[in-house]
Amino acid sequence: MLKVGVIGTGAIGQEHIRRINDTLRGAEIVAVSDVHLETGKKVAEKYNATFYENGEDLIRSEDVDAIVVTSIDSTHGKYVLEAIKNHKYVFCEKPLAEKAQECKHIVEAEIAGGKQVVQVGYMRRFDAGYLKLKEIIKNQKYGEPLMIHCAHRNPNVDKNYTTPMEIENSAVHEFDVLRWLTGEEYISAQVIMPKKTRFSHENLHDPQIVLLETQSGIRIDIEIFVNCQYGYDIKCEVVSESGIISLPEPSSPLIRSNAARSEEVLTDWKTRFEEAYNTELQLWIDATIAEKVEGPSAWDGYLTSLTAQACSEAREKGSIMPIQMPDKPSFYR
Ligand code: NAP
Repeated sequence: MLKVGVIGTGAIGQEHIRRINDTLRGAEIVAVSDVHLETGKKVAEKYNATFYENGEDLIRSEDVDAIVVTSIDSTHGKYVLEAIKNHKYVFCEKPLAEKAQECKHIVEAEIAGGKQVVQVGYMRRFDAGYLKLKEIIKNQKYGEPLMIHCAHRNPNVDKNYTTPMEIENSAVHEFDVLRWLTGEEYISAQVIMPKKTRFSHENLHDPQIVLLETQSGIRIDIEIFVNCQYGYDIKCEVVSESGIISLPEPSSPLIRSNAARSEEVLTDWKTRFEEAYNTELQLWIDATIAEKVEGPSAWDGYLTSLTAQACSEAREKGSIMPIQMPDKPSFYR
């Protein structure tokens, strides 16, 4: 049994703890840590795990084989680096670190350590719908992809969510999954600011549109709209030479009532990607036991953060930013 320690016992931390302990095979939660002591201790008690006030102490503990990092974005980098230093496998929720420079530092530390140990929580790669899209694109049944239209919509966000977070916290999912879907790197980025919704607060310009261009010239547009009010809705439509392939909608019964037809729209990420999270973490557990990394790597986390950095600069400057992706080190091939 893989003994797992989790740092960060908030929303997704508790989800991952529940799934590792109750749903998945091969691992158990033995330790948790959180700066929010009350929540952390409550979760520790619920799962009969040891509580650590300090995340670094949890990482160093001999009772812990592998680490899950689900604390806030700005803390990911330091915990991942500590895990690398202690030669422990680590699953880090996205983003790998808050800034691209810190991701680069993680990549360098992992290479210097001589062994891949980091997986990043880009779970869309494990979603059944995205996997079908990838298979169709790969087979080229409808020719080459030319354009991709995407939307990332949330019902609402709180006041701590600011303008840069649309790129650095939300759109990063799109950046990762679209690199993986197309098998191409991005060469330029632009961000367009449409009219601001009245549901957005003072420190947030919502919605935003990201435009990306890939190496072969595929043009991608991503609408990020985190106060859309109506639900959590993820869209991806790949326009190819002889067909248009759309990400399947989550299935829901069609209701006819009161002279109207309706279908439920989900309202949060937990339900929308439940199966993808399960698959992602089961793969992480199995690979960790086999002393391998099979999911999105630190390198993927780094390139996604470089894309986010280019988009943030493009938004600030109001211009198109070229993206120069570094060559992949043989270590990650
Ligand atoms: P959350 O509910 O705010 O939970 C984060 C927890 O980490 C809070 O209890 C927070 O305490 C704690 N924390 C803050 N600083 C810490 C530190 N230095 N050491 C240990 N714990 C610390 O946030 P969340 O929604 O669960 O998100 C957590 C992470 O998962 C974020 O990076 C987010 O981007 C990612 N995420 C990914 C997905 C996905 O789809 N893959 C979905 C949701 C979230 P305080 O409240 O006292 O600060």
